[in-house]
Amino acid sequence: MNAEIISVGTELLLGHTVNTDTTIVAQALSDLGINMLYACTVGDNEERLRQALQQALVRSDLVITTGGLGPTKDDLTKETIAAVAGKPLVEDAGSRQRIEQYFAGRSCSENQFKQALLPKDCTVLPNDAGTAPGCVVTTDEGKMIMMFPGPPSELKPMLYRYAVPFLQEKEQAAIYSDNIHVFGKGEGAVAQQIAPYLEGENPTAAPYAKDGEMFVRVTAKAKTKQQAAAICEPVTKEIVAILGDVVYGVNVDTLEQAVFHLLSARGETVATAESCTGGLLSKRLTDIAGVSKVFEMGVCTYSNRIKHMLIDVSDDMLRQYGAVSEQVAKAMAEGVRKKAGSTYGIGITGIAGPTGGSDEKPVGLVYIGFTNGTQTWIKKLGGAKTVQRSREYYRTISSSTALDILRRYLQGLNPIA
Ligand code: ATP
Ligand code: MG
Repeated sequence: MNAEIISVGTELLLGHTVNTDTTIVAQALSDLGINMLYACTVGDNEERLRQALQQALVRSDLVITTGGLGPTKDDLTKETIAAVAGKPLVEDAGSRQRIEQYFAGRSCSENQFKQALLPKDCTVLPNDAGTAPGCVVTTDEGKMIMMFPGPPSELKPMLYRYAVPFLQEKEQAAIYSDNIHVFGKGEGAVAQQIAPYLEGENPTAAPYAKDGEMFVRVTAKAKTKQQAAAICEPVTKEIVAILGDVVYGVNVDTLEQAVFHLLSARGETVATAESCTGGLLSKRLTDIAGVSKVFEMGVCTYSNRIKHMLIDVSDDMLRQYGAVSEQVAKAMAEGVRKKAGSTYGIGITGIAGPTGGSDEKPVGLVYIGFTNGTQTWIKKLGGAKTVQRSREYYRTISSSTALDILRRYLQGLNPIA
């Protein structure tokens, strides 16, 4: 089934409201395996909405509109759709009753009942969070037009409770995706390695970049979710085997989750000392509920004085090599591990910029120390002077790299390869 979305609302065109409805609907439809062809936005204008609808009905089997179902004069989506589909508006008794119940004991203006007028022979999509019902109209040509109210809080329950089951029955198909998460290799390199799979149709495979990481999504369509998953399985396995140890997980949420599961399984703990990341690594770890069994201590040791005072980095070393150095990263990892009495220690020190760089130590230069108590590894990031990225980027990539070093160690790999 091919589909498109028309968002109705002048406030969207003026940039006053972010069009989250389209995202919500698009996600639900792609999960159903429905092909989204277009998404457009029109203002509260009958003529332009009519044109958009007519155009959409030529090329798509399903046209979804959001917004303009309310009781006010500028809400004209339903009236326009009824006219385009050649269906008169008739009062839907159930919807009138719901509006009466909604206003029970309160005053209700007569225009509220305008919302109970729906195109003849439509399927009603009840509004459990407001007054304007949605509905599905089938045109004489067999095309479907599905209408949702604009407020996301009303659209979401209507979509998931009523529209998705309705479409599932029509489509008789299910979709399933595996997400293969990769750290330490770029989208381009990955795409090249798995090129033949990117041409596949069922399953499809596509690379996506995300926050200094990337993932490959393998998606299949079949009669049932189980069948679709079975189609994905061999391809997912092959891609994982080709990409090798840069894959940190399949269908896991984040690197920190992967690390959390590995540490929990071994009953081990990690402590962190951070300088340029300012606590981002411990923030990411503590985003996970229940992390306290693997993480007891994370310190932000920003100044030299505090590096010395809290985690015993020697003043001589700080003076001789500077805070951003291999030696200090090593001392931070070892120092925090000792203080915490943890299995592992991580130290991060670097220059996140945009100021503070020098020829010798440019912005983006970061050292990450990792120790298991008997051996310490150091990974150096950046150091190239040609590109300078944002402070946020360097902090994210540094914390991700630290997590990946630990992940690799826990999986028996060379942690800093
Ligand atoms: P109401 O009964 O509230 O008037 P409606 O179906 O008539 O609902 P609109 O009048 O078009 O919808 O929009 C109501 C509100 O819903 C907007 O002010 C905006 O806050 C939100 N909204 C509308 N469209 C979108 C959209 N595409 N994405 C996110 N929010 C939206
Ligand atoms: Mg409205």
